Amino acid sequence: MVKDSRGEKEINAMMMPDLKVGDWILYASNIAVHKVSEEDAMEILALLEPKSHIDLSLLDKEFLDILKACHTRGLERDEIIRLLKTQDPTELEALFSEANTIRQANLKDFFCIHGIVEFSSYCVRNCHYCGLRRDSGDAGRYRMSASEIVGAVEDAVNKRGYKLIVLQSGDDFYYTDDMLVDIIRMIKERCKVFIFMSVGERSLEGYKKMKAAGASGVLFRFETSSRELYNSIHPGQSYDERIAYLKGMKAMGYYVASGFLIGLPGQTLDGIADDIITMKSLGVNMVTVGPFIPSADTPLSERPAGDAMTTLKVIAIARLLMPKTKIPVTTALETIESEEGRRLGLSSGGNSLMFNLTPERYRDFYRIYPNKYHGKEEMWEKYGLFKEALSYKMLEKKMFEVFEEEGKYSGR
Ligand code: SAH
Repeated sequence: MVKDSRGEKEINAMMMPDLKVGDWILYASNIAVHKVSEEDAMEILALLEPKSHIDLSLLDKEFLDILKACHTRGLERDEIIRLLKTQDPTELEALFSEANTIRQANLKDFFCIHGIVEFSSYCVRNCHYCGLRRDSGDAGRYRMSASEIVGAVEDAVNKRGYKLIVLQSGDDFYYTDDMLVDIIRMIKERCKVFIFMSVGERSLEGYKKMKAAGASGVLFRFETSSRELYNSIHPGQSYDERIAYLKGMKAMGYYVASGFLIGLPGQTLDGIADDIITMKSLGVNMVTVGPFIPSADTPLSERPAGDAMTTLKVIAIARLLMPKTKIPVTTALETIESEEGRRLGLSSGGNSLMFNLTPERYRDFYRIYPNKYHGKEEMWEKYGLFKEALSYKMLEKKMFEVFEEEGKYSGR
């Protein structure tokens, strides 16, 4: 029997025969998975439990009606804009707390840590914001070999307990489809892990082969839903093609992680509302949004960074609209707000973290933007990941549930 903020419930403690009354535990899907010290338990509770009970009578009626409406229907564009616009501290608290409550109701305290291996900093594209763009002289370029990539993943999965790994690079055609397929196969032979590919625009045929080899997901942002803005900052690329990729990937049965940048030049709050609506209508399975951070030697190097508060509002609104979706707190938010960004993201509707697993010697060269945040990985790894095979099963079950609801899960 455990007691938490939602009352008492029965928990299966078969895996932990030494448990005593009074011990603190972490549990998932009603199975006890970890004993936790009282001190750590307090820290985790402070992070994940809704903090205060807001006096709803103080809230503007229109605002309260919007928060209530999201339980029974999707939100209209002007309602999303109303939420995005608020600067009122009570309204903000209500928004974040509502998102946190919805996360808890739908995902319990299931939150996990994903890893990212950035395996090549070469890129053929010239995106105006990105430090890896082809014309940037500031980017140090490197490529990891297949065995380095497989080794980094093996280490993270078999030694540190990671269950979901993103393989990311610039759009780098040095790696042929067949090379990527081989890398995926080698990883799947050695470890029980979900692989997400974030390798940009290459043929859908290639994506099909990677799926067949064992890749489960893609991380592929549409970056902005404004066609004009997209086309103006992505020379040689087109918004319509980007969206066609996402639809094609989804149709193949990929678990799709997508989203947009916050704080691009010319972006308005109305535009952000459209970005959120686009994300929902694409049916993304994992939301990935983060602030733009200016990068040296790019056309946008002098522009101000995107705003952390807007990013948190977007995470919270995404949670209201997509109660079961995975929402990782992105490194870019942590970079502008450090550990506090992580805490705020997780208590505003976010439910996972993305840690960097790129080998030390390459990390500094993968400079999409400067001063990327790393911190407290060990404490998080200790409680966010479970080494047992069971935890892979739990993740599989969660991913499966989302697909089943959409009638789209295609195995593996
Ligand atoms: N080549 C792959 C991976 C791109 S890098 C692809 O095109 O999909 C992953 C993400 O980093 C990009 O989708 C972009 O949203 C983000 N990014 C790039 N430059 C950034 C910057 N200056 N600030 C914040 N995020 C940035």
